[in-house]
Amino acid sequence: MRRNSSPRWDLIVVGGGIVGCSAAYHAARQGQRVLLLERETPGAAQSGRNLGFVRQQNRDFRELPLAMASIELWKGIEAELGRKMGWFQGGNVALAVDEATEASQAEWQARARDYGLDTRILSASEVADKVPLLSQGAGVRSAMYTASDGRAEPGRATRAFFEAAVERGASVSLGAAVSAIETSAGRVSGVRLGDLMHEATAVLCAAGAGSRRLLRSVGIDLPQELIRATVARTSPSPEQSVDPCVSAPLTGIRQDSRGSMVISVAGGEYDLRLDSWRYMRLYAQARKDNPDAARVNFLAPLQRLYRRPHVPPLADIPPTRDNVWPEPRRVAQALVEFRQYFPALADLPIEASWAGVIDTLPDMVPVLGGVEDLPGLLIATGFSGHGFGPGPMAGKIMAELAGGRSSSIDLTELSPMRLNHVQGQFRPMTDAGVPKRSR
Ligand SMILES: Cc1cc2nc3c(=O)[nH]c(=O)nc-3n(C[C@H](O)[C@H](O)[C@H](O)COP(=O)(O)OP(=O)(O)OC[C@H]3O[C@@H](n4cnc5c(N)ncnc54)[C@H](O)[C@@H]3O)c2cc1C
Repeated sequence: MRRNSSPRWDLIVVGGGIVGCSAAYHAARQGQRVLLLERETPGAAQSGRNLGFVRQQNRDFRELPLAMASIELWKGIEAELGRKMGWFQGGNVALAVDEATEASQAEWQARARDYGLDTRILSASEVADKVPLLSQGAGVRSAMYTASDGRAEPGRATRAFFEAAVERGASVSLGAAVSAIETSAGRVSGVRLGDLMHEATAVLCAAGAGSRRLLRSVGIDLPQELIRATVARTSPSPEQSVDPCVSAPLTGIRQDSRGSMVISVAGGEYDLRLDSWRYMRLYAQARKDNPDAARVNFLAPLQRLYRRPHVPPLADIPPTRDNVWPEPRRVAQALVEFRQYFPALADLPIEASWAGVIDTLPDMVPVLGGVEDLPGLLIATGFSGHGFGPGPMAGKIMAELAGGRSSSIDLTELSPMRLNHVQGQFRPMTDAGVPKRSR
């Protein structure tokens, strides 16, 4: 392997999603020498394919402070970067159509009050005021509502951070995958890209679905599962507005900046890979708590060989090898619920649909922070289907850590150490998820 002739970087960021692009921007802004390495194009994976909810509501309390801090960042980021991202703080409404949902929402809201979040419970008539296009006959009993939640355009937001990073002096390389993180004398020394070694004081792994493979090169076994999720978009209807993002029982609905309704379907699919078996025990609790979150697709390999997309993927989302066909069955399922809740919009045809690969972890919250016995390594990954909202703040925090500062929010509960339950010292896990004795 040849050493790259460029001088040593302060920070190499692997992954040009919202997290990596935000980290590169903030690090460059702080005067760090940054290299961003993305194997495809910025936002090609989840960050350009998601639903666009920027939501604190109903988050796991371990990540709520991150989600709240990120909202503060979103509020000023378009002005700071001088770029439009479709940011709109229209709130988030989560509908309750049964008693059990009402009870769990009331419990969450009571706890969220301690964090200073503005979540409140709306009566059925208040819901009707907030979302006038919602059907009065859809059986909505009440809703949880957070006025400070918002929405943004995923691809545009990611590219805005990317362009601003470049403007601030970050160097970038697109179209080639980093094959390994390199170490020397017990600390991270850089990354391998092709036959070149790029040297750095710190390396940030923000590689989404590619993080597991990358971290394996330094002996870290990240128990990641990959879930395919589908999103569909109607043709625009700018004269009818739905200000808040709406979570119905099986779908999430956001009006985009053109007036289209972007609709996601709850749940997704995963292929049975060797890793799915290896991590089965770690995911047992998550699957028990939420059995509909993801189903195995036994036919996936055959479908990939024979299926053709039923609608063209969106022109503004670059095709990638991981992010394949949307699931027509799931689009149909989403449409049924969308039309039930929004009969006034029932005639809007589906203009496009697409899919993205979500990187999940067994406890459904991200890993954020440094690895204690491998100085120089930072990890920000495993956002488990909700990293677009908190992504900008996660990237900013990683830039702070790379610059030798401490994090502006407490990351203890999101630390990589939690994955193997070893306090104070990181040890990679065995295949069965049990800490190894030594590396
Ligand atoms: C369908 C769908 C809907 C979603 N809806 C929402 C939502 O409404 N709200 C929300 O908050 N979140 C949502 N999410 C989740 C959110 O999109 C992700 O959590 C977030 O985008 C993760 O950002 P990231 O930067 O960590 O990863 P990604 O955006 O996946 O970026 C990782 C990047 O790393 C690159 N990469 C990987 N390996 C390598 C390598 N070896 N070398 C170089 N580059 C590499 C990839 O090409 C990719 O571009 C959704 C996700 C999906 C798929």
